[in-house]
Amino acid sequence: MTIALQCSCGHLQGTLEPRDAYARVVCYCRDCQAYARLLGREDVLDACGGSDIVAMQPAGLRFTAGADRLTCLSLSPRGPLRWHSACCNTPLANTARDPRLPYAGVLVACITADPSATDRAFGPARVAVNTGSATRAVRPTRRHTAAAVCRIGAGVLLAKLRHRHRDTPFFIAGTSRPVVEPRIVARAEREAATPADHG
Ligand SMILES: [Zn+2]
Ligand SMILES: [Zn+2]
Repeated sequence: MTIALQCSCGHLQGTLEPRDAYARVVCYCRDCQAYARLLGREDVLDACGGSDIVAMQPAGLRFTAGADRLTCLSLSPRGPLRWHSACCNTPLANTARDPRLPYAGVLVACITADPSATDRAFGPARVAVNTGSATRAVRPTRRHTAAAVCRIGAGVLLAKLRHRHRDTPFFIAGTSRPVVEPRIVARAEREAATPADHG
């Protein structure tokens, strides 16, 4: 059974295939926080500045309506592509710049299933990464983190071996060109949105 996602206004809709998920992690890195701030969507962050993310094969994500509002930005000329809806600035997913890397980090905030259904499909959010930049103290989850990193690495490798990276809604088929030209955020704008070092 697929899990539905949509932007906040409902224009852009899609589905996720739980089978294609690698792991679920909450990322506290400054870039994920800056991204939410740039979109004016800090509401998607948890109380400690974390982004709850399902790491998965891009092939497991389908846009079923409103894909004309799909857009993306990047915090630097080589940084990951951060996909969101143009209609209501809902962050949707982060991908590598290179489609040969079958990775998409889908924001749980855009999943419409209730939390218990989301937990059943992708496991509970119990892996914290980049906890050093959390806005409040978050306990590192070393063992869970190591296991998740292994699952993501193995999943990416397996997806590549199966050539599943060719199936992606984010890149023009057979090319390395994203379906939307990313907006590269100017340095000053990025710095203004990046949280200060909390030590
Ligand atoms: Zn929308
Ligand atoms: Zn992050």
